[in-house]
Amino acid sequence: MTTPAQSSHVDAPAARRLLIVGPPGAGKGTQAARIAEALDIPAISTGDIFRANVSGQTELGVLAKSYMDKGEYVPDSVTNDMVRSRLAEDDAHGGFLLDGYPRTLPQVDALDAVLTDLGASLDAVLLLEVDNDAVVERLVARGAEQGRSDDTEETIRRRLEVYAEQTAPLIDVYEQRGLVRRVDGMASIDEVTASLLDVLGAPASR
Ligand code: AMP
Repeated sequence: MTTPAQSSHVDAPAARRLLIVGPPGAGKGTQAARIAEALDIPAISTGDIFRANVSGQTELGVLAKSYMDKGEYVPDSVTNDMVRSRLAEDDAHGGFLLDGYPRTLPQVDALDAVLTDLGASLDAVLLLEVDNDAVVERLVARGAEQGRSDDTEETIRRRLEVYAEQTAPLIDVYEQRGLVRRVDGMASIDEVTASLLDVLGAPASR
């Protein structure tokens, strides 16, 4: 008889440690909030943490804004430190859904190191697949609705380029680890949520 794999967090047998990946405008934030609620884990969005710091005019916010407004990534060292402290918080012990991190290969290594230190490992990487033209349309609309200063057409184009150059390669890394679960992100919001819960083997939400 083999014994089941032991987790260091014996109090959280249903722990879910998840990533959600996809190009800007794929609906990661919307879906992350829904999936996190259904699984009772925190959704941790690096973009949201940066935006909160921008609003609060913190030192981190001022630095982050200078990259965000150009559609570039905030430097890895800054982002990695921020995620390391966030994952060490109590609410992340039973699982988490990271939205928008990792986005570069060095961030993959940094996340691996953090998880090793926490005695944890990833369960799945949710990949939202969308059509590029549709994504540009969605983002232009969101920029107008929410007044996001990085949702202008020029910045959107740069963000899609940066995603293709720096983030798309991560999918191969996680694919080799057998973690990637692909979902069609072009369906309705409810249908995408249902598909995500389905690939996770979680019961459909209310
Ligand atoms: P998001 O809300 O995830 O689209 O992120 C908005 C912006 O925040 C990105 O375009 C980047 O400038 C910055 N950002 C968010 N997450 C990261 C990350 N993991 N690494 C570097 N920059 C990030």
